[in-house]
Amino acid sequence: ALYESKKQEGSCHHMVFSDSLQARLQKETRVENGLHQALANNEFELHYQPIVELDTQRIQGVEALIRWRQADGKLLLPGEFIEEVNRVGLIGALGEWVLEAACKQLRVWLDNDVDLNMSINVSPRHLRQAGFDELVIETVKRYQIPEGRLMLELTEEVFVDSGISSLYVLNEIRKVGVRIAIDDFGTGYSSMRYLKSLPIDRIKIDRCFISGGGGVHLSDPMITQAIGFLAEGLDLDLVAEGIETPEQVAALKAQGCQKGQGFLFARPLPNHVLINLLRANH
Ligand code: C2E
Ligand code: MG
Ligand code: MG
Ligand code: MG
Repeated sequence: ALYESKKQEGSCHHMVFSDSLQARLQKETRVENGLHQALANNEFELHYQPIVELDTQRIQGVEALIRWRQADGKLLLPGEFIEEVNRVGLIGALGEWVLEAACKQLRVWLDNDVDLNMSINVSPRHLRQAGFDELVIETVKRYQIPEGRLMLELTEEVFVDSGISSLYVLNEIRKVGVRIAIDDFGTGYSSMRYLKSLPIDRIKIDRCFISGGGGVHLSDPMITQAIGFLAEGLDLDLVAEGIETPEQVAALKAQGCQKGQGFLFARPLPNHVLINLLRANH
């Protein structure tokens, strides 16, 4: 049996499962074939989860989250396919699709006076591929994305084991006004000394410390407070992920955190639903 730990949607612990090798290989082949077709058939879509100012609930930006709309109409979440995409070597192709789709959408919003910032998730493996910086720079130039409108979310591992070259790439990207966020902060292995010298603009506090425990209060107020001090001291923008209750909002605000994201405000939404929500809010 093969063992693997997988992050489950909706929880913060890791689940261990086993599978027969044969079943697993068959599944992988199916997924790989499916992925090639999905890219060719345009079966992926981006949904957008609002990032709000906690004081006013004003939506200041969105995070683009990928979904796979399969031919039978079934919608798959990234937890069900991103690992496979990485494994079969398609993360560059998928990442390029996400970047293109996000910039295209952002251009449409800006042309229609929809005042939003866009964050996209970038796989560490894609970032390390040759030409990633050129790809990003070329795309934002082609869509004439203004400075500060696009942000790339990267998990801590990027900064830990990839060394100088990734830092160079991030610096190049920042020169054209693209911002960088550390996603799921607090779950990886960033050292504080390292954090100080990184080319980053934002820290996103991982959902585990907010709603990971399942209660109405902050799951780990000491950790959120400590991350808040860190962000303030380093002059970084701070966003709390996974806010599900008003109690969590109140506690975060009391700690000085000004931005958040979570099911309490909105789930990831298709563009037309997001636009309706924006209309209703203004
Ligand atoms: P992430 O970047 O940390 O995104 C946040 C995830 O938390 C999303 O799950 C979102 O739906 C979920 N979430 C947001 N608010 C709440 C809440 O209040 N409660 C709970 N329980 N969950 C909440 P999703 O869309 O399933 O994405 C999972 C992960 O997949 C993302 O985590 C990101 O690491 C990855 N991912 C998503 N889209 C892309 C993409 O386009 N490219 C890459 N490389 N990875 C992606
Ligand atoms: Mg993210
Ligand atoms: Mg996150
Ligand atoms: Mg995550």
